[in-house]
Amino acid sequence: MQIAFIGLGNMGGPMATNLLKAGHQVVVFDLVESAIQTLEAAGARRAPSAAEAAQGAEVVVSMLPAGVHVRGLYLGREDQPSLLDALDGKPLLIDASTIAPEDARLVAEAARERGLEYLDAPVSGGVGGARAGTLTFIVGGSEAGFAQARPVLEAMGKNVFHAGESGAGQVAKICNNMLLGILMSGTAEALSLGVKNGLDPTVLSEIMKQSSGGNWALNVYNPWPGVMENAPASNDYQGGFLVDLMTKDLGLAWEMALESRAAVPMGSQARNLFVQHAAQGSGRLDFSSIQRFYRAGEE
Ligand code: NAD
Repeated sequence: MQIAFIGLGNMGGPMATNLLKAGHQVVVFDLVESAIQTLEAAGARRAPSAAEAAQGAEVVVSMLPAGVHVRGLYLGREDQPSLLDALDGKPLLIDASTIAPEDARLVAEAARERGLEYLDAPVSGGVGGARAGTLTFIVGGSEAGFAQARPVLEAMGKNVFHAGESGAGQVAKICNNMLLGILMSGTAEALSLGVKNGLDPTVLSEIMKQSSGGNWALNVYNPWPGVMENAPASNDYQGGFLVDLMTKDLGLAWEMALESRAAVPMGSQARNLFVQHAAQGSGRLDFSSIQRFYRAGEE
């Protein structure tokens, strides 16, 4: 299949690489030259713009930071023509970014008006899952679009869920990430409490992993440096899932809660923590660096 891939960052880069490994022809576009070069070295073809990457494509996949970028790509803005208007054929459009459900519905509707199918297909599983091809895709859109997308998504992920109509993938993803923000801060808080009371963070992590506090952060993404060799915490919190992106997702949860009159006191607390952490200059660190927030003043 010929696939256009737009957005080759921490997640998009390895996802596009897995499409190449599955035997697809991948034409890529990003604003960052080094990201394009990495994909070229893996066998992708570069295009000078998103519209040219999409020429002749059967599927377009986008993996961009936020709603403003996704709206800009598909609907256009002052400095950027609309991809929907520039398409020559009728490719299936799959956006894997995490954005507001109403943004996803807006783009889906604009696509529908042009006879195109657009799916919101945000992912879970982190950079490790993107590299290993074990991501979870959470899809919103029609049954027919979902069926068409499945083989492409299965080349990048292990679990593929159909959450419901347009926007439903984003709703499920935002609920999940609100819980993740709460779990990561709670895990960092418990580790700090234990260490300040004389425990070894590795021993405490092992105990909590096998006890009722066990969770994803303890299992695969421990926030304490040195406890887990491959976790961003052991690499100075570089790479992974940025604090800025977690802050965005907790903001999306907060907006969704306000709109639907849902009480989210825990999510609000996590949002405040991450906003404060970002304001102290940690926005470009991995989100597990929230551990540093609890260790302030230790050194
Ligand atoms: P990133 O910042 O590493 O990558 C985004 C890429 O998009 C960058 O390479 C950037 O240059 C490119 N880009 C921005 N605007 C563009 C445009 N107009 N045209 C082409 N390229 C453009 O972000 P990421 O970590 O890869 O995350 C992408 C999305 O996936 C976000 O919505 C994030 O919330 C979500 N997500 C991330 C993770 C994670 O662990 N990093 C996990 C699940 C979901």
